[in-house]
Amino acid sequence: MSIPARQLYIAGKWVAPVHAGRFPVMSPRSESEVGSIPNATAEDVDRAVAAAAAAHADGGWGRSLGRYRAGFLRAIAKKVKDDKTQLAKLETIDCGKPIQEAEWDMDDVAGCFEYYAELAEKLDARQDAPINVGMDDFRCRVRREPLGVVALITPWNYPLLMAAWKVAPALAAGNCVVLKPSEVASVTCLELAAIVHDVGVPAGVFNLITGTGQDAGAPLSAHPGIAKVAFTGSVATGKRVALAAAANVKPATLELGGKSALIVFEDADIANAVEWCMFGAFWTVGQICTATSRLLVHESIATEFYAQLKRRAESIKICDPLIEDCRLGPVVNKSQHDKILQFIQVAQQQGATLLTGGKRPAHLAQGYFVEPTVFVDMKAHMQLWTDEVFGPVLASCTFRTEAEAIEMANSSIYGLAAAVISADEQRCKRVAEAMQSGIVWVNCAQPCFVQAPWGGVKASGHGRELGEWGLESFLSVKQVTTYVSKEKWGWFPSSQSKL
Ligand code: NAD
Repeated sequence: MSIPARQLYIAGKWVAPVHAGRFPVMSPRSESEVGSIPNATAEDVDRAVAAAAAAHADGGWGRSLGRYRAGFLRAIAKKVKDDKTQLAKLETIDCGKPIQEAEWDMDDVAGCFEYYAELAEKLDARQDAPINVGMDDFRCRVRREPLGVVALITPWNYPLLMAAWKVAPALAAGNCVVLKPSEVASVTCLELAAIVHDVGVPAGVFNLITGTGQDAGAPLSAHPGIAKVAFTGSVATGKRVALAAAANVKPATLELGGKSALIVFEDADIANAVEWCMFGAFWTVGQICTATSRLLVHESIATEFYAQLKRRAESIKICDPLIEDCRLGPVVNKSQHDKILQFIQVAQQQGATLLTGGKRPAHLAQGYFVEPTVFVDMKAHMQLWTDEVFGPVLASCTFRTEAEAIEMANSSIYGLAAAVISADEQRCKRVAEAMQSGIVWVNCAQPCFVQAPWGGVKASGHGRELGEWGLESFLSVKQVTTYVSKEKWGWFPSSQSKL
């Protein structure tokens, strides 16, 4: 299957980048070139922002009823469902995720557009909500309005889904958008532009530029014409994006990295806990911001837990991600592959004990594959315990008391997610409340629902995506206050003398 040859999508048209640059799309499975994508530069960013600004100024989108916009969002969702097989295949070819995961992603993409279609409709009923200001002389109402042109910058691990999490609420709120997906995996976002075009979203409302962070992302986040930047990616880039936006007094929401902890207590069903532990750490080849990549196991069950984990991890099917029941594909590219193997090497040098994995699988000489890897006996100072790997590498140690587990889990610069597994409901409740994170999973790890807020604290960023919070983050709140009394206001009486 070949990658469609697409251009940038600006003002409702496919256009070549001003400097006509393109760069190759490399398959993480075959390590060979499978297509190319346009490389936008600052001039293209200017064109895209201008197109979005013109569409916003026109008012046809931003001042329309939510009900009108919902129609387009539903049409996008339907087309994603219709094209699911093709889109999932492209996603797998581009970023290497197992095909069944990619299909699941496409269901979630469609679900996200449908969900925000519903919220767009509900927005109409929430407009002009009265506010009691406590004085009969004034009537106050609140309007929720789009921000204007919003910049959406996304990562490569869930290429189309991360874009949907931003595009759907931004459009539902009435904004005009410029999407800049990761240069590492942009193929399905280019297909989204084709879908947006096919369903007739008015020109300029949705614009897509592909290109590197330096050439396209940086000028977009620093552009004075944008009202906000919504960013998902690494901490280092998030800081740059926030600084660039701040220079224009523009807000930035940041969904950044993590090093989330999974705590397994002694009363847990071990087989069940091992299953969630593997899902939390190895789903999407561990390339998830919320990967529960730090495992804390109660010392009394550690021997049995690690034995089961080793056996189960060694039975995961690692193969070509297009094979239907593949459970672990290659990581996204060579640079990630090298980085992960380097992490493993440092862990060994620092004295961590390798339980399983740690190398390229023997049966796969080609492709950026890494075995599911588990280290035990981790110490707090070790790099693998503190730093985000973004690969199938789990770091573990044991604990004795609940207080110790909480302290260890919270000892991280990150605060995205945490998980606790125990048969004791009260303990789960206590631990959930004690976790310094934006998300806590109890007796599971990684489930994600479009209705529930998503985001972190500490170095994992700020702001929330998904749910009603996702919509609110793309709305500006305006109060309209009217003086309704027949009486003169009278603070400066006309008859008052100057002295
Ligand atoms: P990254 O920071 O390298 O890139 C993210 C995006 O920023 C890309 O589109 C990139 O081109 C762009 N970019 C790079 N430099 C830029 C600059 N100077 N100005 C503006 N844009 C720039 O991240 P990545 O490697 O694509 O993604 C992995 C990271 O994303 C991990 O840290 C992961 O935890 C995080 N992530 C977080 C969430 C979340 O919801 N919190 C979800 C997915 C991924």
